[in-house]
Amino acid sequence: GTQVQWRPFDRSGVYMSDLESALHYSLRVEVAARSVIAGPALDALRSYISVLAKNFPGRPMVKRKLQSLDAWMKSWEEGELPYSSLRAALDQSNQTAALPRGVRWVGCQGSRPHFRGYPCSVWTLFHLLTVQALETGSSGPLEVLWTMRRYMHNFFGCRYCSTHFEQMAEENMDSVSMLSEAVIWLWARHNQVNNRLAGDLSEDPHFPKIQWPPPDQCRECHGVKGGGEHAWNQAQVLAFLRSHYSAQHLNMTYLE
Ligand code: FAD
Repeated sequence: GTQVQWRPFDRSGVYMSDLESALHYSLRVEVAARSVIAGPALDALRSYISVLAKNFPGRPMVKRKLQSLDAWMKSWEEGELPYSSLRAALDQSNQTAALPRGVRWVGCQGSRPHFRGYPCSVWTLFHLLTVQALETGSSGPLEVLWTMRRYMHNFFGCRYCSTHFEQMAEENMDSVSMLSEAVIWLWARHNQVNNRLAGDLSEDPHFPKIQWPPPDQCRECHGVKGGGEHAWNQAQVLAFLRSHYSAQHLNMTYLE
């Protein structure tokens, strides 16, 4: 049968191939579930593409494609956008501007096809965007979080995931007032999800859900409180996230 070949990877790496695969899957598969995009979904899509155009640290070819798509979305004045029109704009490409087709999971490979993959790449993209916004200052403190929250709510295929995420966001996302707090807020929420899903059927046994980053990736992130309980060193966690999700740390192997 058709066996997908395993791609050896470094567990402490962040792979551009996963990120481009996330963009392909979200824009050519997930958003395509709606034949017409209108109202709040159209606003959500517009801000998603705008945040990507501003903050995605992609290859020049991909960045140019996101920027031209953003300009195209902004010039679309009708209240309804047929998916077929978006798709035509997305697929229009040349030597200098294109979004590669298909998915090629590397750091997000699962030990079985139904594990990891796209949801893993969405988290990766989401963390990367909060860190890039902090580095460039090109988005306000809540812009990336609101954009991803609205993307989840309007498009994410796993409906109970978006419901859970919406609940967490409603609870305390409005307490974020600085770009660095947005990075930490998302990290803490992701650990909350990891904690909830540990031992769940959806967990890939080869990639157990842990409180992240583990000590072997960031020793200084871990400390102890007076009573001997574990305590995060948030300043160290922020420094670690800024380096882990930096443009320079992106691994470019396995790209087409
Ligand atoms: P993931 O949790 O997808 O993480 C991907 C990578 O991010 C990890 O390999 C690690 O390198 C890094 N990472 C891990 N933790 C952190 C952190 N705290 N901060 C920064 N980086 C980190 N599934 C459900 O079954 N129920 C749900 O309610 C649910 N809600 C979801 C909500 C969102 C917003 C998303 C994007 C996904 C959700 N999922 C949910 C899917 C689930 O969280 C995982 O994405 C999926 O199970 C694949 O897990 P994974 O092992 O690839 O690691």
